[in-house]
Amino acid sequence: MPPPPRPFTLACRNCAWQQTMLPCSDLLKLNQDWFLECPQCRQPQLERRAASRRDILRARLDQFLKLDH
Ligand SMILES: [Zn+2]
Repeated sequence: MPPPPRPFTLACRNCAWQQTMLPCSDLLKLNQDWFLECPQCRQPQLERRAASRRDILRARLDQFLKLDH
């Protein structure tokens, strides 16, 4: 069984946009789990880095708050 994908953060070099991805599977959905360009300024060069623990915590909190219960 392959190891699960590691969480990572995509950040725009042009504006302040950034998003931490918490992949649950190998299948990443474009514009949900993966971005080819910045959704704010359309700048195509996104910086990908390993998510810090703080980034992961924040992303998990965001996911939790988005759940419709
Ligand atoms: Zn941007």
